Amino acid sequence: MDTTLIYSSPITIKLRPLLATSIRYSSSTVSMSKSPETGDDRRRKVVVCGGGVIGVCTAYFLAKSGAAVTVVEQSSVACAASGKAGGFLALDWCDGGPVSSLARASFNLHRSLSDELDGHSSYGYRPLTTLSVSIDESEIGPSGRVKNLPSWVNGPAQKSNSIGTVQTTAQVHPQLFTRCLMTTAVEKYGAEVVIGRLERVGFENERVDSVVLDGGRVINADSVVLALGPWSSKLALLSSLFRVYGLKAHSIVLQPKEPDAISPHALFLTYHPAQGGKPMDPEVYPRPTGEVYVCGMSSTEEVPDDPDQVTPNPESIRMLKQVAGNVSTHLKEGEAQVKAEQACFLPSTDDGIPVIGELRGMKGCFVATGHSCWGILNGPATGASLAELVMDGRARLVDLSPFSPSRFIAI
Ligand SMILES: Cc1cc2nc3c(=O)[nH]c(=O)nc-3n(C[C@H](O)[C@H](O)[C@H](O)COP(=O)(O)OP(=O)(O)OC[C@H]3O[C@@H](n4cnc5c(N)ncnc54)[C@H](O)[C@@H]3O)c2cc1C
Repeated sequence: MDTTLIYSSPITIKLRPLLATSIRYSSSTVSMSKSPETGDDRRRKVVVCGGGVIGVCTAYFLAKSGAAVTVVEQSSVACAASGKAGGFLALDWCDGGPVSSLARASFNLHRSLSDELDGHSSYGYRPLTTLSVSIDESEIGPSGRVKNLPSWVNGPAQKSNSIGTVQTTAQVHPQLFTRCLMTTAVEKYGAEVVIGRLERVGFENERVDSVVLDGGRVINADSVVLALGPWSSKLALLSSLFRVYGLKAHSIVLQPKEPDAISPHALFLTYHPAQGGKPMDPEVYPRPTGEVYVCGMSSTEEVPDDPDQVTPNPESIRMLKQVAGNVSTHLKEGEAQVKAEQACFLPSTDDGIPVIGELRGMKGCFVATGHSCWGILNGPATGASLAELVMDGRARLVDLSPFSPSRFIAI
């Protein structure tokens, strides 16, 4: 099993290994037909397909800028990777690569969004310190001798370095973040959520005019945004242009008995299992909720049609629990309750770069996918820039040209 997720850019960048307060919009539609702020019902109609962080961020900024937005989601908002991710954010870890300006703009947008929204909704935004930690199972004894380590990291750690400060690294709870943005878009800016599966996009004279859902329901649209994450290639319209594949990664959520003992330090591990097992790169994120999230153990697998059918591999979960117990006695079985054992798919492209922009020859039809291991970080700037492109014909916040879907089309 491949346990390392490589951000495959030709340029060297810091590698990111890996790998409800529930608003379930279970009725077919949650809607408001007019902008609550303007009362204008002749707004541009935009249908955003996919209720993950990318679709929801795009919907949020579109609705805020005056569009009449409908989000079409086949299961529930943030049901997939956007609800099961770590939520780690870094200002400069994508520097030197094509995603650098997107990541920097997004890191800053996360901060301003938290000022705007997190106060009353509490999705757990906080800056934190980030450490790289090397652990070898075959070394016995506590790690008291290792400098920099917080006291709760008391397993057999050999080495630790600071790789992020409260100025450069932060976190959100990704499911709460995504659902908070969706709720705000509905309640404040009049967006609606439709639970249904997108079957196809309708065109007239090479211009988008509708989406068709399973069961035949048609929703008219001036513009359509396809933010289907790792399901993008299941839509023939997109798979005919480029490939998006899913990299499956696992995670557990632990509730330690003594949450106050755990300080806000994100840990990027180099983990050597006993008996010469292959080294792994799990990640550990304590959350302001008192939970501790641990992820890693990735492999390429076919993405099931239904997100609710994504199930974790028991051996991967067992390994993550073992890792947690060797990081800290507070995370050992018996000392921490296991609140979730889960898996989800990273949306990955062949060149490792997201695909964001209008599809050539399909006026009004936009795509945003392929964010790999940085979708929670890059959601806000993707959404804000794409909203500008849809509404004004030009993205100002970030130059989206490196992400154009046209790069896959042979000239
Ligand atoms: C274990 C793990 C940890 C991660 N940790 C981090 C992290 O710390 N920081 C970070 O920045 N990123 C992280 N990521 C990456 C991040 O989670 C993803 O990049 C991001 O969630 C992708 O968002 P998305 O909206 O593109 O896709 P998704 O979240 O997969 O959402 C796509 C949505 O589209 C819907 N959909 C698909 N097809 C249809 C259809 N036909 N009709 C209607 N709806 C449809 C799906 O149901 C789904 O809700 C992590 C990922 C994993 C797997």
